[in-house]
Amino acid sequence: MTQPFKCPKCGANDYVVVLTGCNIKGATVEERYMWDDEAREYIFGGSMVTESDTVESDAAHAVCSDCEADVTEAVTAYEKSQPGSGNGEAQA
Ligand SMILES: [Zn+2]
Repeated sequence: MTQPFKCPKCGANDYVVVLTGCNIKGATVEERYMWDDEAREYIFGGSMVTESDTVESDAAHAVCSDCEADVTEAVTAYEKSQPGSGNGEAQA
C-alpha cells in the first residue's frame, strides 16, 4: 500500500501539477464547455490533455487542490519516495 501525498499546510491529499512551456507529442485533448443558464452562453472549462506519448516541459509547479499552497517541493519529495511510479496510472 502506498501512502498518499499530504499537503504540509492543510493535510489534503489532492494536488494539481501545472506544466508550462509544454511540448506534447501525440496528445488527446478534451475541451470542456459548460452551459450557463443565466448568462445564456457556454463557459469554456479549459483544455485537458487526457493522453499523450511524451510530455516535455520547461517547468513544473504543484499546487494543493484545497488551500492552493505551492507544494512543488513537497510533491517532488513525495514522488521520489514512491518506488513504482510511472506504470500506467494517471500520470500527467
Ligand atoms: Zn493544502
